[in-house]
Amino acid sequence: MLIAGNWKMYKTLTETVALIDDLLLEIPQDNVTVDIVICPSFTALKTATDKLSNTILRVGAQNMHWKKEGAFTGEISAGMLRDIYCRYVILGHSERRQHFGETNEIVNKKAHAAIQASLRPIVCVGETLDEREHKDFKKIIHTQVIESLAGLGPEQLAEVAVAYEPVWAIGTGKVASPAQAQEIHHLIREVLREMHPGSKKGHKGGARASSVAEKIRILYGGSVKPANAKEILQQPDIDGVLVGGASLDPRAFGEIVKAAL
Ligand code: PEP
Repeated sequence: MLIAGNWKMYKTLTETVALIDDLLLEIPQDNVTVDIVICPSFTALKTATDKLSNTILRVGAQNMHWKKEGAFTGEISAGMLRDIYCRYVILGHSERRQHFGETNEIVNKKAHAAIQASLRPIVCVGETLDEREHKDFKKIIHTQVIESLAGLGPEQLAEVAVAYEPVWAIGTGKVASPAQAQEIHHLIREVLREMHPGSKKGHKGGARASSVAEKIRILYGGSVKPANAKEILQQPDIDGVLVGGASLDPRAFGEIVKAAL
């Protein structure tokens, strides 16, 4: 399981320090079997990795550029993130796709660069409300997965987490039902099998859990709260959650982590 918090463009440095202190009080530090990641703003990343270095919490960024270095004013590279001990990076969040023109092709370049720098990408996909209601949204998700992860070999793919985040459920309080989420997670796992065929059975620890599609973590994101986390996490193809709003509330995020234990 992977439980990740996307803090978006919230929290100053001082507020980040206070939130981390509160989180450490809420999140058990012993016998924790899930990976827990927080993704604060760029300005707080170094402080976050310093503060969390002896804890079970890991730190991720919310974006990065795909080039190693160069004349790209305002951008941050994967190597720069790794240099300050970030372990994860969110790529292709719907807010980046919607407001900053990120395409599957851009997400793909970033995913390759992240893996090359030993960062674990959390690659977001998901349909808008219009796509769900009026278009072949399953085909859209299929294309997002194929194009965003194109060219990654099985070992590289095993480092990736895919986050299914229906855009209509992000920050709206409208959560996909566990069954709706499970249906799309299953579809995403099928797409991953298509990309790298292997064993069909054995997900979540079964004896034949050998193929990349079985190993890769598929997270759900969209208005996850303590009240709905457990049921979502119980779905067979849901291997964690990407939490926005509720990750800014230490008690709520702590409850979500506990729901995964
Ligand atoms: C997100 O931003 O990735 C997200 C899922 O937000 P929220 O939990 O607030 O819907």
